[in-house]
Amino acid sequence: MQMCGVWSRHRDCESDMGAYSRILLAVDLTEDCRHVAERATAIAGESDAELHIIHVIEPLSLAYGGDIPMDLSSVQDQIHEQAKSHLAEFSSEIGIPEQQRHLVFGRPDSEIHRIASEEGVDVIVVGSHGRHGLALLLGSTANGVLHGATCDVLAVRVGDDARHD
Ligand code: AMP
Repeated sequence: MQMCGVWSRHRDCESDMGAYSRILLAVDLTEDCRHVAERATAIAGESDAELHIIHVIEPLSLAYGGDIPMDLSSVQDQIHEQAKSHLAEFSSEIGIPEQQRHLVFGRPDSEIHRIASEEGVDVIVVGSHGRHGLALLLGSTANGVLHGATCDVLAVRVGDDARHD
């Protein structure tokens, strides 16, 4: 695993890694998020910081608009139940207590910003696929999180290009 090296410092340029007191780990609940979580838990351990976790469920209506002429509410309920149990299982594995778990609906980047500001987090940790080329450097969610953030953002390199030390 390797850090992508993309840190954005918006709030306190004097702060260093040791100064974090609250961290928000954003997970898409794929295999990749294990690497991202390892980094977040390591930083939390070093800083003695409180670690929060967030997974955002994108409403099907947002993803497909009005393109599918049917009631998607039961599919949406199933997606919610599945995400709830995956998030609970994953959070327990890495030792994040229930009150620090956030399962919300909406657009991932804006919901991550909202919870980060509501919880007063110092740094958001996301995965980055490091695709080639400038425009694809961060991947869409990591890019969105970085650009609207009012706190630091750490993009952890995941996927085939990531070096695993
Ligand atoms: P992407 O840009 O979609 O490849 O995702 C990169 C990273 O953004 C993931 O590794 C997660 O850290 C975060 N992310 C993506 N989708 C979600 C989601 N639905 N909820 C929370 N975090 C997400």
